Formats: sequence, structure tokens, C-alpha cells
Amino acid sequence: MNAPLPTQNTPSGGTERSAPRYSKGPNLVDRIKSKLSLDKYLEPIMELKKGGKGELVGKCNMHDDKTASLHVNTELGVYHCKGCGESGNVIQMHAFIHNLSYEDAKKDLGRQLGVYTDKVLDNGEAILARAANLYAGQLQRKENALEYLKSRGLNQDTIERFGIGFCWGREYMDLTPKQQDMALQAGLMKEDSKKSWLAGRIVFPVREKNGRIVGFGGRLVPSDNYVPTGPKYMNTPETAYFKKSELLYGLYEASGGISRAGRAIVVEGYMDVAMLHQTGVNNAVAAMGAQATENAFKLLWSVTKNIVFCLDGDKAGVTGGMRSVMAAAPTMPDGGMISIATMPAGVDPDEYVIEHGQSAFDAHCDQAVPLAKYLMDSKVNDFDLASPEGRAGLIKAAQELGATFNSAPIVAEQLEEEARALCASALVESTLRRMELPAVLDQRDVEMAIGLLQKLVSDVPRQTGRERIAAIRRQTLSARRPAGA
Ligand SMILES: [Zn+2]
Repeated sequence: MNAPLPTQNTPSGGTERSAPRYSKGPNLVDRIKSKLSLDKYLEPIMELKKGGKGELVGKCNMHDDKTASLHVNTELGVYHCKGCGESGNVIQMHAFIHNLSYEDAKKDLGRQLGVYTDKVLDNGEAILARAANLYAGQLQRKENALEYLKSRGLNQDTIERFGIGFCWGREYMDLTPKQQDMALQAGLMKEDSKKSWLAGRIVFPVREKNGRIVGFGGRLVPSDNYVPTGPKYMNTPETAYFKKSELLYGLYEASGGISRAGRAIVVEGYMDVAMLHQTGVNNAVAAMGAQATENAFKLLWSVTKNIVFCLDGDKAGVTGGMRSVMAAAPTMPDGGMISIATMPAGVDPDEYVIEHGQSAFDAHCDQAVPLAKYLMDSKVNDFDLASPEGRAGLIKAAQELGATFNSAPIVAEQLEEEARALCASALVESTLRRMELPAVLDQRDVEMAIGLLQKLVSDVPRQTGRERIAAIRRQTLSARRPAGA
């Protein structure tokens, strides 16, 4: 029971069934090009400006481009870079961005655009891709599921881009025993009942970094009368394909956005990722629940050196999110940076971005607190920093915490720096008070001076002790210098 190949939009339709092995190639390229233009594909990845006639130009993503060397011919759907000499069409660009062979890039784009279906279900990969297509079609006929997604703000484009679908539950019952065996191994079908694991749920395909679908996440439809057992969210089981601890949801879709923004935003839910991408925050990914491990983040560090964790404002959100942060920290490379942006209490990232828009969300992430500062801020109230014992206690706590990051000595160093900065400003504050300066000075001046000092100390969180002191000195000197001098 092979899934039929789509024949719409096929310029020379009909020939592929008689000679499937050799005529499929060129037709698929045409089908892809008719569905997706190169400039549309490049939109989330780079900024393109009007160039010569029928041309767009932008900074090339294939070499370190200082000028706009990449020329895109919108009519022909091809690009050429005057810097590195690379040229090609949307498929070559897709192959470059996701590090795929030309053939794999072609099939991958074709699957995503719904113009290519794996004809032979002879392996898990094909059966997973077929399942995603099937689920996507089923969603369009499941009204209340579609309504729920739209009520959460998702539009049809985003639903298609992320391949969101609906699983009825009986998808695998009619397959041949051999195919059922593969559906079983791919984590799609339950062995005893032959029913789908995600029966009655909205499903989100989870892709590997190179775009292959490896498993699914599922969410119950709130308005459904038929209530399947199990939690609100669940995933298909762990399989040889689906290794949850090594995956990040949305990494494939976000890879262009991450390289453009120079950072990745980690949120918690599938819906958050889809909604953020829809509003233009297309560098967002999600950890796969509490299961994300160092391996998942190693992948992310290979595409960016700057990760912002966006935590839900309530206590549970912070605790859950910190598990991901702690998984990411030990693998932080040299020069890497982790910071934490906390959402207002009770507001999810998707709600925030719907209400305030992309630039407000990005600005909120710009204000994210560096990891070491975030961790030390959470400890500082345990100690009385006016006393030498309190200060020694905070430094010791920083060192103990630092020791848990044994594979990331840089985090340990930053924690101790942060603790010392907190101690230094507390010391100044208590000294000022001991000298009874607040009594002879305006209280506001004292508070401002302490505030300024704390800011100077925390503005240079990524330097070593000596560099930090030199920087503080420079900043203090320049602040003291009268204007115009
Ligand atoms: Zn180039």
C-alpha cells in the first residue's frame, strides 16, 4: 500500500508512474520551484535589498561577507555570490544551510512542500515521513483541533511550515505485517492494540538537525469529547530514530534564523516555538521536556555561541527551565554565553509575543541576565554580606556551585567573579554606612553611588579579575572626567 505520488503542479505529469526511476528528478525540482521561490526561502535567513533589475542583494551566508556580494535573480530563482563564487538554486541553498547532499536536500524540501512522498515504505525514515503527511492532511478535516490551533494564534502557513497534524489512532491497522513492524520500530504504533501512540492528539513532527522526521509530540484537543488517557502533552516513545535527550524541537526550522540573529532562544513548548517563528522570532527552539541533556545542547553550540533561555515567570517554569540551563552549561564552549530571560509571571512566550510583537520580545531577550549573575543573585540573600563571614560564605557557595560545572571551567570562573563583585559592592556599602556618610550626605546620593558601583561591577561580567578591575577603573575615570575635557 504505497502512498500515491502527487501529480498536481507537475509540468509533464503522468510520466513518472511508467518510469519512476529516471524521470522523477527533474519533475521534482520543477514542483519545488513552483511552490517556493528562492527569495521567499531566503527571507528568514538574510536581509535582501533591491539590487539591479530583477535582482536582490544581501550578505552571503556561505562566506564571511562584509559587503552584499550575494546576488539573487528573482525571475530565474538562482543566486550567485561575487565573493566566494558559489551559485545555485533554492535546492543548493537548502543543501548548504542544512549540510545535506543535493539529492537529500531535494527530497527534504519536496516532503516539506508536500510535492514529494516517499514511494516505498521500506524503512523507518520513510514511514515516519509518510505518517507526517498523513497527519497533516487529517488535521485539515478535524475541525476542533484546527480551531484550537487558530485560537492559540497559529495561522495556516505556520501549521504547514511545522507540519502540524492530527492523529486519529487507526492509521497503521491496514498496513502489511512488514510495514506494521516498521511502524512499531519507528514508535508510531502500539504493539498490542495496533493503535497509534498519539491517538486523538494534535501532533508536532520532531525533526533532526538535518530535517529528517524522527518522532512526534502530541497534545490533547481541549474541546474533544473523546478524552484519551494520558497527560496533556506526550511524545512517541524512544526509538532508534527518536533519541529525545539528543534533540531540540525546531532546531532544523531555526537554523537559518539562528545564524542571522547570532543567537538561539530556548523556550519550553512546541506551541511557543511555532508562534515565535510566526511572529518573526525564527531563532527559537525548545528542549524536549526534562529530558534534554548535554548532547542536545552540543548540537546547538555547534551553530551558535550565544544561547538565551526564556523561562516562564512562575516558580514551576523557572525550576523546569533551569534543568535545561544546567544541561547546557557543562558543554558551553570557550567564548560561549548563556543568559536567562524570565517572562512576566503567568505569561508564556507565545502569549507575550502575540501581545507585544517581535521587537519587544527580542528586546526582552537583550536584557537577559548572564548565567553566573543569575545563579549568584539567587544565592545572595542567604548571606549577610556586611560581615566578613557572610562574604566568605558567598564566595565558598560560588566555588561549590562552580565545581558542579567541572567540564566548563569558564562557568566556575564567572561564578566566583560574580560573587566577588557582589561582595565588593556590599563592602563599599557597609563601609559608607560605618563612616556614617549617609548621615552627612543626601541619602539619594549614597544610593546612587552604590548603584553606580554595582552597575560598573556587573557591566563587565565576562572578564577575568584583573581585566575587570582595569575596566572598572577606566569607566570610573571617564565618568569622573568633566565634560569636554
Ligand atoms: Zn559568498
